[in-house]
Amino acid sequence: MRRILVKGAGVAGLTVAHELAARGASVTVAEIRSQIGGNASWLAGGMLAPWCERESAEEAVVTFGNVAADWWERALPGLVTRAGTLVVAHTRDAFELARFAARTRNYECVDEKAVAALEPDLAGRFHQGLFFGGEAHLDPRRALEALAGKLRAMGVVFLFETGEVGLSGFDQVIDCTGIARADDDLRGMRGEMLILHTRDVSLARPVRLMHPRHPIYIVPRADHHFMVGATMIESDHDGPITARSLMELLNAAYALHPAFGEAEIVETGVGVRPAYPHNLPRVKRWKDGTITINGLYRHGFLLSPAMAEQATSLVFNSSADQGA
Ligand SMILES: Cc1cc2nc3c(=O)[nH]c(=O)nc-3n(C[C@H](O)[C@H](O)[C@H](O)COP(=O)(O)OP(=O)(O)OC[C@H]3O[C@@H](n4cnc5c(N)ncnc54)[C@H](O)[C@@H]3O)c2cc1C
Repeated sequence: MRRILVKGAGVAGLTVAHELAARGASVTVAEIRSQIGGNASWLAGGMLAPWCERESAEEAVVTFGNVAADWWERALPGLVTRAGTLVVAHTRDAFELARFAARTRNYECVDEKAVAALEPDLAGRFHQGLFFGGEAHLDPRRALEALAGKLRAMGVVFLFETGEVGLSGFDQVIDCTGIARADDDLRGMRGEMLILHTRDVSLARPVRLMHPRHPIYIVPRADHHFMVGATMIESDHDGPITARSLMELLNAAYALHPAFGEAEIVETGVGVRPAYPHNLPRVKRWKDGTITINGLYRHGFLLSPAMAEQATSLVFNSSADQGA
């Protein structure tokens, strides 16, 4: 039986631990933090939206991302919501919607009536939108905790607050340490987000609001909570959200629905997305034998199932390096 050490309990580490354990490996996950959470994965929106992402991403994000919802549903039945994504713009920003539409596919154009049918709380607020019916979302925190629970039940051992773990006793190390990995062309993309709570708005699916300066999305969570995200700032600084970003996110939420003006701000957060130059992830075997899964950028939940599968085949078949 192969004994494998996975470093990092973010979405990359947990998904690959799942694939390895499912193939019969003996897996240990070592995490430098004291518990699951607090990392970039914890801060994510949880959108499984390959066609929306295609607007600014390479085709590989669709190729590797369109298996994600099925993977998460198989791994954690009941966790995925398949209600699509709605993209809207105010009339003055209609050109932003047209630009978005021109850069992707797999959507239907919807008018005011259809927007209202999909999201009754947005009735009368938007005259046009795009509906990506094949997309899905999940709550990342529930996903990470449920996956860790399942892994424990599968026999995976978790070590928290680890320094460097001794490598003797392991046949293979898989490094999933995200932005902490010293890798020459890995850079950070700071993402600020907040969680609002209001009983005055209901949404059934992630809604993206097109805006020339501050495009945002709002992802509904349980009990009338809403994740509002996210900034995209070229920086690996993980200090608190800035006043400017907070104002922009709140302004955009208010522009989507004025009732967000009365919402409670439950949380603000900052995550640093690990990114390579083309914003595509890599699965790589290094000279010392370590395999890395990194560079998941803004697609950790979307692309980690495919990257986990590639890393698992590297472990068991020792084939060439892969990636998206
Ligand atoms: C605001 C925001 C919104 C996002 N929204 C989405 C979305 O809607 N959909 C989507 O698919 N993606 C989204 N993303 C992107 C996604 O969150 C990232 O791509 C993903 O979290 C990267 O996962 P990771 O496991 O590589 O890194 P991380 O989640 O950062 O995990 C790395 C882990 O390694 C640990 N570690 C570091 N050093 C060591 C060490 N030496 N030993 C052991 N452990 C170590 C860290 O503590 C951490 O827990 C979003 C990101 C942000 C910030």
